[in-house]
Amino acid sequence: MSELIKTKGIVLHEMSIKDHDKRIILFSKEFGKMIIFANGAKRAKSPLLAGTQPFVFGEFSVVENRNSYTLRQVIIDESFYELRNDMFTLAYSLYLLEVVNNVIQEMDPNDELLRLLYISLMTLKNGIHSGNIVKTVFQFRCMNMLGFAPDLSGCMECGNIDGVFTLHSRGGLVCDSCFNFKDKPMSNEAIHVLRYIQQAPLKKLFHFKINDELLSEIECKVQTYFSYFVTGKFKSLDILTTF
Ligand SMILES: [Zn+2]
Repeated sequence: MSELIKTKGIVLHEMSIKDHDKRIILFSKEFGKMIIFANGAKRAKSPLLAGTQPFVFGEFSVVENRNSYTLRQVIIDESFYELRNDMFTLAYSLYLLEVVNNVIQEMDPNDELLRLLYISLMTLKNGIHSGNIVKTVFQFRCMNMLGFAPDLSGCMECGNIDGVFTLHSRGGLVCDSCFNFKDKPMSNEAIHVLRYIQQAPLKKLFHFKINDELLSEIECKVQTYFSYFVTGKFKSLDILTTF
């Protein structure tokens, strides 16, 4: 008989199979990405219906059979259902799921990234920060967890800590003596915010205030840096450009 496996996780994606079944992608605490079949989960009375939707965080009981997993039960801790109340919040929330689905692998758990995703979704759910702030913080902190954290201590070429800097996709800050960059140097405030995002305990990650000008400065730099390391077509934010 197959053994029952229990793991905590967040549903990243759901796909319909036939008339009544689903296949979900779970970001699990113990096993990283898991592809799980949920038989009958589309039926209105199925006990698996509510627990197999994107964003659900809970305890998933599965059985393994010839390298595939079949879902037996979900105990929902948090459905994040409120993320669907606003189209923009939903778009940013789906973006986070898309990114995570892109960067994680099967049998490669990343508990810190799972916690970052949970905290980011909770911040969106509670309306603590707007979608673009959560996206930017998530992208930048995510770099740490994937091993691409930039060096923000000073110029990565000469060690200078007093010059004017920009963030370079080589992996950190560079100063204007070493690198003749054409874009505007970063403000000290922006570098300070990036250091905070990189180093703050996860529990306090979103405990800061930022004005629109500073946000647009770091949003642009972080997006460029992030796109250099994480490639992929993320469609969930396309809707934002149509308004
Ligand atoms: Zn330098």
